[in-house]
Amino acid sequence: MPRIFLPLGENPRIVHIAGENARYLLTVLRCREGEELEILDGRGLCYSTKIVSLTRKEVIAEVSGVTPRNTESGINLILAQGLLKGEKMDLVVQKTTELGVKEIIPVVTERSQVRETRKTGRWKKIASDASRQCGRTAIPVIREPVPYHSLFSVNSEYNPCLGKCKGLLFWEERGMKMKELRDRLGECMTMIIAVGPEGGFTEAEAKLAESGGFLIASLGNRILRAETAAISATAIVQLLFGDLG
Ligand code: SAH
Repeated sequence: MPRIFLPLGENPRIVHIAGENARYLLTVLRCREGEELEILDGRGLCYSTKIVSLTRKEVIAEVSGVTPRNTESGINLILAQGLLKGEKMDLVVQKTTELGVKEIIPVVTERSQVRETRKTGRWKKIASDASRQCGRTAIPVIREPVPYHSLFSVNSEYNPCLGKCKGLLFWEERGMKMKELRDRLGECMTMIIAVGPEGGFTEAEAKLAESGGFLIASLGNRILRAETAAISATAIVQLLFGDLG
């Protein structure tokens, strides 16, 4: 079933679709008149529609029904990812989006080989495309890159010491096993998980995280590539605290 994200007004009967969504329907999916189309409004509603006309630049669909649709995980999971080289960030954005991450914060750490990027727009498109493909009812937020220390500033919204959020820093040098962490953390509504760049976190960065109320988490005795660690950590957190378990 073709599916797009499009904010809609109250009780639409006819929907006019243009721009990137129209291009996707016309050239990627090659939709035809009479074909059914699902429109997710990004606020938990799914509109069942039928395509009634297509031109080169616009698709018009008629609404036949609307149902609540929520495929989002119950945990508000935020990934703070050390900036990675090449297309590894693309992979992390796509796979963690499928796994239900709600927000991705690219982070510049001491060992980040990438110190600045103009790829945020690219990652937003990857997150939107992945959300559409996997039928999410919300698209993850991709933040602009921040320096590592800003995650732990006193008034940071991600500060576990404020009690609103739990924080895990994944470190191959040491850390608690995830099952121990589940028992220790109990129910979590919001969690931020930090994964390092290719060169990993420094001891000082791990200590800063601990002083900021983060717990150090282990993904076992093998050293995983950063992208493997980010995807695995997201899946394990969703299993233990989210909607994969
Ligand atoms: N310093 C490592 C490379 C770091 S891997 C080396 O010597 O090759 C990149 C990131 O993946 C790490 O910063 C950490 O966040 C995560 N990671 C990799 N393996 C891990 C493990 N076994 N447990 C916890 N985190 C791990």
